[in-house]
Amino acid sequence: MWRRTQEPVYDAVIIGSGASGGIAAKVLVEAGLKVAMLEAGPLRKHLEDFAYHAPWPYDDPRRLFKEGKSERQKMKEKYAFGPNAFTPWANPDEPYTTPQDQPYEWMRARNVGGRTMFWGRFVWRFNEIEFKGYSHDGHGKDWPISYRDLAPYYDKMESFVGVCGTKENHPAVPDSDTLLPSPALKCGDHLLKRAAAKVGIRATRIRRAMLTKDYNGFKACHYCADCDNGCETHSFFNSAFRCVVPLMQKYPKTFTLVTNAMARAINVNEKGLASGVTYVDKTTGETREIKGRTVVAACGALETTRLMLLSTSSLFPNGIANSSGMLGQNFLEHLDTSAQGYLTDLSFVTPYAGDGVGGSHIAIPWFGYDRPQKDFDFVRGFHTEPSCRLSMNPTKNPKTFSGFGASFKREVRRWYGTRVSLSAHGEMLPSPQKFVELDKTVVDKWGMPVLKIHHPWDDNDRKMFKRIRQTYEEILTAAKAVEIRLPELPDKPGHSIHELGTARMGDDPKSSVLNQFNQAWDVKNLFVVDGAAFVSGSSKNPTGTIMALAWRTSEYLLEEMRRGNI
Ligand SMILES: Cc1cc2nc3c(=O)[nH]c(=O)nc-3n(C[C@H](O)[C@H](O)[C@H](O)COP(=O)(O)OP(=O)(O)OC[C@H]3O[C@@H](n4cnc5c(N)ncnc54)[C@H](O)[C@@H]3O)c2cc1C
Ligand code: SF4
Repeated sequence: MWRRTQEPVYDAVIIGSGASGGIAAKVLVEAGLKVAMLEAGPLRKHLEDFAYHAPWPYDDPRRLFKEGKSERQKMKEKYAFGPNAFTPWANPDEPYTTPQDQPYEWMRARNVGGRTMFWGRFVWRFNEIEFKGYSHDGHGKDWPISYRDLAPYYDKMESFVGVCGTKENHPAVPDSDTLLPSPALKCGDHLLKRAAAKVGIRATRIRRAMLTKDYNGFKACHYCADCDNGCETHSFFNSAFRCVVPLMQKYPKTFTLVTNAMARAINVNEKGLASGVTYVDKTTGETREIKGRTVVAACGALETTRLMLLSTSSLFPNGIANSSGMLGQNFLEHLDTSAQGYLTDLSFVTPYAGDGVGGSHIAIPWFGYDRPQKDFDFVRGFHTEPSCRLSMNPTKNPKTFSGFGASFKREVRRWYGTRVSLSAHGEMLPSPQKFVELDKTVVDKWGMPVLKIHHPWDDNDRKMFKRIRQTYEEILTAAKAVEIRLPELPDKPGHSIHELGTARMGDDPKSSVLNQFNQAWDVKNLFVVDGAAFVSGSSKNPTGTIMALAWRTSEYLLEEMRRGNI
């Protein structure tokens, strides 16, 4: 059934409530705009829909081989791992396709807050070189903005979100005055940091969206180290409970959240301007329209690109704002891979509760900036997230130990807390072979063509992978790790969960979809605030840059409205 809603006309309709949509809503609503936000998933209930903490082993009924699901299985069905969350297989209503020889695991979220409900929370600034890759090595394109343009928005974003870290004076990591205190290093961090230094590589403190002190009305992290299952105190940033819900409470007259609303087209009027959004109400199956003076797409890079490709009209037969033909091209993500080992120096460590945040408290940024390029047979670099932790359960599977009684317990304790890992994000180059398009032979539950994702590895990726492997072997060996396990292949494409670049910005409307303010060249009241706007991916987790850009775009939108340009 089609139902047309006549009124109201919102100042802005934001599609998507994740990292980018949440920031755009905050800036626009607080400036006084009347904003509607469409979100394809539901609003999760705090303290009900999250597992929060892994159950104690003695709470597990299957420990005594009883019937029924284990507590751990039940927990996994909860929010972070359940249907409609981010598992690659959990979204049968919305399939996607790939060429047979190019598998891709697309990890999406369907809920208010998007993927910030279970993200890793690493928040980095791109450095000057990362905005100007082409000028340095001749590959890809330069961004139309520089670090200096975005620095004030990194400041605003960090101050709002709450990012811990330290000044590093490291060429890969721009310093910042707005960071919260760093958590102390864990024992494993000290050992890995020292080992990296032995092979000439510098580790820094993490930059992470974690509150290390009470901040902006939210409680400091209590270091339960169980972030993957949600945070009871919202001590790590998520868009639902730190952006959207506070706006609903504070601005009930000017901010409207529409949940379970799957946008299927951005509409244009006879002047070629965006006039609103057509969406499916997933709870009733009805098709509706919502009107806006501006439209802000924030669905995540690939979803936004699909929506724009689906938004055809006589003015835009190949998708809205696609006169350049670049919509879907320039697809970037990260080359991910990891290695692990056990540090026997940590054997028989005393278990204690003050483990810190989930993961490690150090990072290893790209170390190649101050070395000659001849040291590398690939271009760009990789960034490393180590991991070491004391968790509730043994770190090595006790089933692999023989014996029982005191000797068995001793063996469990010997390995407890000794496992460390190193995980890479490698920067990829754009290529004509990496792109997305509509697959008109397959439709989703609502009859809309799905996305076909093309993602082959290229020569640069393969060379970089070899160097990552070699570097991890060097660091783990220097740390005297045992049972070192090195990767044979990169992780499956998609596992970085950092999709970027498919509606890139530029300074030429013939070769880019957006201008430097994330504004569509062809449709001046349409803005794209997610990672689709990226020109290059850097080797760093992208969400800090996505949020800083969303902030900058929103301020530009306000200014253009004030001037009467949109
Ligand atoms: C496990 C995990 C770990 C991660 N770790 C990190 C990290 O440490 N650091 C980092 O920088 N990044 C990390 N990421 C990636 C990070 O979460 C994303 O980069 C970020 O959330 C992207 O923000 P976004 O607003 O573009 O999209 P999302 O957060 O994905 O939000 C998009 C929203 O739009 C909605 N939507 C999509 N299509 C439609 C439609 N047609 N109509 C209406 N609504 C729609 C979706 O339901 C979703 O809620 C991680 C992600 C995951 C899953
Ligand atoms: S470690 Fe901190 S941020 Fe993570 S879930 Fe626990 S309290 Fe929340």
